[in-house]
Amino acid sequence: MASLFSLFFPRVCPICGAYLGEQTERGKICDECLRTLPRTEQAEVRQNGTEMDLAGKCTDVVASLKSMHVDRAAAFLFYEKDHPIQKAIHKMKYADQPKIGYQLGRQAAMDFQYSDFFDEIDIIIPMPLHPKRLRERGYNQSEYIARGISEITGIPVDTTHVLRVRNTPKQALQSGEGRMHNVDKAFAVNHPEQMYGKHILLVDDLITTGETMRSCLKAMKRFRGATFSVFALCKAR
Ligand SMILES: [Zn+2]
Repeated sequence: MASLFSLFFPRVCPICGAYLGEQTERGKICDECLRTLPRTEQAEVRQNGTEMDLAGKCTDVVASLKSMHVDRAAAFLFYEKDHPIQKAIHKMKYADQPKIGYQLGRQAAMDFQYSDFFDEIDIIIPMPLHPKRLRERGYNQSEYIARGISEITGIPVDTTHVLRVRNTPKQALQSGEGRMHNVDKAFAVNHPEQMYGKHILLVDDLITTGETMRSCLKAMKRFRGATFSVFALCKAR
């Protein structure tokens, strides 16, 4: 029975496909892939590509971040089309393998330890999914990433203060303008007074135009006196 089970769930690395042995947990990324991930090296770089994504079309990145009360933003990996990482992220989001996110979150936190990126953070908030989407998928992949970061840094994860109140269509199917309209007012906050003065890390799986992040940060402006940093597991090249 055990061998039949492994026939359907082979113990292979979700990135390179290398066979890792029967005793390996399903979805475990191999050491070689963890070493050779397409890292952005942005943890210590200001006005990096992720900060620019977040600033949108605004050319003054510093002023744009300041207006959103964002201290800094960084992505861990480049999301490259046709790179095996694309397949792994797809499995993480759509193929019931959220542990990929957990492992990559842990690795990012270990990598970023050489910088002060996480030093001032009080709370990690994963980008929420709409309850309907959460039911369909069964998990929030951004929460898995957040919990991986939390395991290394010891910073607590909060999933109760930011809510997704509108179920927006899948981003990939939206044109630029449609996308902007769709994420507007998609978020709401709960008990904002409890977040007074906190430095909050907002965690998402992928940043492309930055529109979803900006919409969420806009709703979080109700956390008076709070500062934000942004972490994306991947950013588009
Ligand atoms: Zn591998």
